[in-house]
Amino acid sequence: MHARQRELPLHNVFNENQKAILTLPPKNDTEADTSSSWDFSQYEGVLNFDGQEFIFPEGFHAEASSRWIEDSLLMVNIAVSAEIQAECARCLTPVSLEISGELGYLYCSHSADELNGFDDYMPVEVEFFGRVLDVMPQIRESIYTVLPTKVLCREDCKGLCPVCGTNLNESSCSCGNEDIDPRLEALRNFNSE
Ligand SMILES: [Zn+2]
Ligand SMILES: [Zn+2]
Repeated sequence: MHARQRELPLHNVFNENQKAILTLPPKNDTEADTSSSWDFSQYEGVLNFDGQEFIFPEGFHAEASSRWIEDSLLMVNIAVSAEIQAECARCLTPVSLEISGELGYLYCSHSADELNGFDDYMPVEVEFFGRVLDVMPQIRESIYTVLPTKVLCREDCKGLCPVCGTNLNESSCSCGNEDIDPRLEALRNFNSE
């Protein structure tokens, strides 16, 4: 086994210096909305999630918009996008792909079970509303949400031979037949002695 070459430091793509401060519309104006976008492209790094490693060579990008539904209920829509690299789940070839998605949040300063009719929105309870809101925690959550559950280099990736490790997209091996890897053959003979 040889380690895959890395050109990037493996710090987390998220860190505590990142903030996404969204200015809120005037409190009593349900017609007004505000929006903002943030460029986190300097935060190249990695995320480990669900047993998989995702490299972010150019950080990520986020946008958010907000609108009051009522006095203590703020609707925030968040859009995130990034270029990521991950290994194909079957053949371990590095794959580059774009991820993007939009998520809706409802920030409320009262109990979250009063939020009927907003099933597609995730509730976020806040103690009080000021003039601005740091939506960074929800941006992070959105990025985790849009990460692919399974990365494949192509739909019909044939993967690696479980016996000899040959990438079956690139060449074939004879492990599926009666022929056995000579190293394994030796091992078998050794075990049976
Ligand atoms: Zn593959
Ligand atoms: Zn093989």
